[in-house]
Parts: sequence; C-alpha cells; structure tokens
Amino acid sequence: MKIKIILSIFLYMVALNFSFAETIHVVTTTQDTRSIAEMIGGAKVDVFAIATGYQNPHFVDPKPSYIIKLSNANLFVTLGLDLESGWSPSLLASSRNPKIQKGSDGYVDASVGVSLMQVPSSINRAEGDIHIFGNPHYWLDPLNGKMIARNICIGLEKISPENKSFFEANLKAFNDQIDLRLKSWYSAMAAFKGSKVIAYHNEWCYFENRFGLQIVDFLEPKPGIPPTPSQLVKIIKEVKENHIKVIITSPYFTSSSSDVVSKETGAKTLVLATSVGAFDSIKNYYDLFDYNIKLLTGALNL
Ligand SMILES: [Zn+2]
Repeated sequence: MKIKIILSIFLYMVALNFSFAETIHVVTTTQDTRSIAEMIGGAKVDVFAIATGYQNPHFVDPKPSYIIKLSNANLFVTLGLDLESGWSPSLLASSRNPKIQKGSDGYVDASVGVSLMQVPSSINRAEGDIHIFGNPHYWLDPLNGKMIARNICIGLEKISPENKSFFEANLKAFNDQIDLRLKSWYSAMAAFKGSKVIAYHNEWCYFENRFGLQIVDFLEPKPGIPPTPSQLVKIIKEVKENHIKVIITSPYFTSSSSDVVSKETGAKTLVLATSVGAFDSIKNYYDLFDYNIKLLTGALNL
C-alpha cells in the first residue's frame, strides 16, 4: 500500500514536471507580437508583453518585474530596428538569461525579411531622430504581420522542434485569416484611396502604403521631436490647401497640438490604435485593423 502511494506521488510529480517543461515562456516587447505569438504557439505557450497597447513603444520605463519575466523566458521576441532600442537591450542584458540573448535560439527579431520603408542612406541620430534604421512601425501592415508570424514560428520550432507541425498549422491558419480579412479591409478602404491626412508621429507609412492613404505631413517635425509652433503653422497651411479632413494620432500623444490644428482648420483629430490593447475592444492583431479601418472610413466619409 505504502509503495502504491509513493508511486502515485512520484507519477504525479513527473506529470507536474512534464507539464511545466511543456509550457514555453515567451516574452515580447509589445502587445502585437504577443497576440501573434499566442496565435502561433496556442496552448503550448504562455506569453507576456512588456509594453502596454496604449504606451509609446519607443519609450518604456524598465521595471524589475520585466527582468524577472525575461530571466524565466524560453523565447524573446523584439520588433527590432530602433523601436525599443532605448529600453529593451538593457532589460535583456539584466536578465542574464543566455537562452534569449541576441544570436541564441530563443531570440527572435520579428523584422527579419520585412521590406523596410524609409531606410536612410546614413545612420544619423542628429536632431533626435529615432528611426535611424528605417521606419520600425512595420506591424501596421497586416502582410508584415505574416512575416512576424513566420519569424515567431521559426523561433518556436528551434526551441521546441517536437511541436513543429502544430506551430506550422497555426501559422497557416493565421495567414489564411489575414488573407481573408484583408479582402474586407481593402474593400472598406477602396473608396478612400489617395485620401490625404496628417499624422502626429511617422508611424503609419506601412498602413498608408497597404491601404492607399496619403500622409502629407507630421505634427512632429522629426520622429521623436515634439511639435513646434513653426511646424504647426506649416501644418495648418497644408491642411487648408489640401482640404484635409483628418489628423491621425495615437493614445500616447497629447491632443494639444492636434487641437490647435483642428480649431484653425476644422480637421478632425482621430486617435487610432497603434497596438493591440490600445483600447479595450482591441483584443488581438485582427481587431487592430478592424478598429482603425472602421474609425478612419467613418471620419473620411463625413
Ligand atoms: Zn516611431
């Protein structure tokens, strides 16, 4: 009897250990890569995202809790370029987790294979520019979402090769969903092709390219540099000349500058979502486009 009890406790502990070993702990820098990693990893993963969806991904305050998450992670996913360069490398180094450092199997740079836009001919941080390796906001094109998903899938397969077919089936399902939804997103945006808009930060070029908008100028004179009075004067002139109806901004920018332009011109300020979780209704990567396209087409239609 005693042996039986010991044996069942032993088997229970083996099962417990086994289930712990099975869960792949993933840490992503943003909510968008969290959503995609959850779709590719399914029940095999547990994903934690560092930045919230309503936070500016360029500027995130490092917290000790993030280091603890990273030290226990099997896989780390970064959007790369210089999007998170102000905070992510130092967190990664502090985690002292060799499995997820750059070059390790557990390190995924989601930008691999993405056709980057606005890549400058020389690297120059003069005047505070924070897009020195090209525009890093590439996840705002759903077709780049497929590249992100592919890179995450490759990362998961490296650390968990026994689940390769599971991850690849999920990748295919994700790609199929994007293709399916893209048709309705295209048709919703078709009537607004070439519509001119103003944006706060230069983070919409991939979205603009995919859905045929035309961003005329930015409230920020350079990415990361807050709007200046002379820039606002220039913008007001451009809005009037081009009969622009919409100024696109994000939840993490103050409305004071866009309010000035709105007041002077009548253009409407639209707070779009740059990430999953920017607003409560945006639960996953598909919702992000549903939300933005609904809001944008509504405003352009007025
Ligand atoms: Zn940016």
